[in-house]
Amino acid sequence: MKKILNYINGELSPSNTNTYLDNYDPSRGMVYSQIPDSDEKDVERAFKAANAAFPKWSKLPKEKRSAYLLKIAELIEENLEELSRAESKDNGKTIQLAKSVDIPRAAANFRFYGTGILHYAAHAHEMEELAINYTLRHPLGVVGCISPWNLPLYLFSWKIAPALAAGCTVVAKPSEVTPMSAFLLSEICIKAGLPPGVLNIVHGLGSKAGNAIVAHPGIKAISFTGGTKTGAHIASVAAPQFKKLSLELGGKNPNIIFADCNYEKMLSTTLHSSFSNQGQICLCGSRIFVERPIYEKFKNDFVERTSKLKVGSPESSDSKIGAVVSESHMEKILSYVELAKKEGGSVLCGGKRMILEGEFENGYYIEPTIIEGLSYDCRTNQEEIFGPVVTLTPFDTEEDVLHWANSVIYGLAASVWTENTSRAHRIANELHTGIVWVNCWMLRDLRTPFGGVKSSGVGREGGFEAFDFFTEPKNVCIKYN
Ligand code: NDP
Repeated sequence: MKKILNYINGELSPSNTNTYLDNYDPSRGMVYSQIPDSDEKDVERAFKAANAAFPKWSKLPKEKRSAYLLKIAELIEENLEELSRAESKDNGKTIQLAKSVDIPRAAANFRFYGTGILHYAAHAHEMEELAINYTLRHPLGVVGCISPWNLPLYLFSWKIAPALAAGCTVVAKPSEVTPMSAFLLSEICIKAGLPPGVLNIVHGLGSKAGNAIVAHPGIKAISFTGGTKTGAHIASVAAPQFKKLSLELGGKNPNIIFADCNYEKMLSTTLHSSFSNQGQICLCGSRIFVERPIYEKFKNDFVERTSKLKVGSPESSDSKIGAVVSESHMEKILSYVELAKKEGGSVLCGGKRMILEGEFENGYYIEPTIIEGLSYDCRTNQEEIFGPVVTLTPFDTEEDVLHWANSVIYGLAASVWTENTSRAHRIANELHTGIVWVNCWMLRDLRTPFGGVKSSGVGREGGFEAFDFFTEPKNVCIKYN
């Protein structure tokens, strides 16, 4: 059985514990590889390597750092097929999705930050009393990057690429549930000739290896994407050490549909925003609010189109919905369907585990599920489910829908569908979220700030915001005659 290895100081090595954790293929519900169960000693070794590499890496001309990142982007693209298959097997997402979204976007992250750093400039502020301020931006040092399982390489690279480009060295941990593409990335970094210690990848449990990264006194900042509860724990460990923190956490995003929208465009995009990646994208719109005049029509069309989405093996080219990431996650999602029924909801379609035939019979498949008849403030409509489950609610006024949309503890993203430009601006302005999409979903411009408000996180990633995070500003004020 394939054994994944840590990537420390430029080399692939087992954990000092010499123990391994099972890694599952969720499409078959079986163990197919093993990952090192690393502990704080492995993190210490990774830190030492990163710390030793920092002086040289941070002083390397930007153009040279850029060249390494572009080489990594190139190698990701060259290995698109292998990486997509690996991501799909590890996570349960369809190969098609990995090939068209996850892996190309991972390469795009390295390319974007590899070129972005060449344009990142210091600011200067001139004063009337013959003085000038200029603000230097120095890389922080060794930083920690911790990422989740839903978009494994895509989110891992979204953190690592700006950190490396900014001149930091990195100790990173991918999710224990989906370690494979990060392991393949370490092989790519070796091929790209990335200097030893610049990037270190430690595999293992969040509570052990992840926690050791967060608690390490030498690690200057933590960039974390994951659940809100884990984010709160990380903040409680990192804050007393005054570490910089970027936390991208959970969401419960509203999708607000007005009667005057471009109906066909809205319907097909809403299928994606509801069920892409089995609904396991932090940006999925899981609460769908529909203006009453089109509610019944939308409901019928949406249920019909959803029922036709093929749930199947992630390897099959006609599958639209693959497996959810793990058995425990599947149980959690299904428990929310039961909760929704108890709360008075009617399941319009789906709602059950799906058993496939043959080698996939033990896989973790859930039918895409639509539920109506729930109040906006019940638990099903307030808590993050993170699966192929959405709720439908009709609304009559802007005031009501805004109140309901903003009623959750989360504030990551929202979608609004209307052809009325004034209304689009008005609603976008009033939504308590970090991101609003009007007449689209998940349209990403990497230059824009990405992140949430309230319990969806602290700080922003994306564009120069990420460089601001991984650097420390120092203002120099010079008085002259
Ligand atoms: P978790 O919070 O469980 O885990 C995220 C990462 O943190 C994993 O690598 C995990 O390791 C690690 N971790 C867990 N406990 C600790 C700890 N005590 N100290 C340090 N690291 C730790 O999230 P999931 O992996 O379940 O991801 C799903 C969540 O991520 C959802 O809530 C989703 O909304 C959110 N998310 C947010 C995004 C955003 O941009 N806002 C984007 C994508 C997802 P291990 O896996 O080994 O436990």
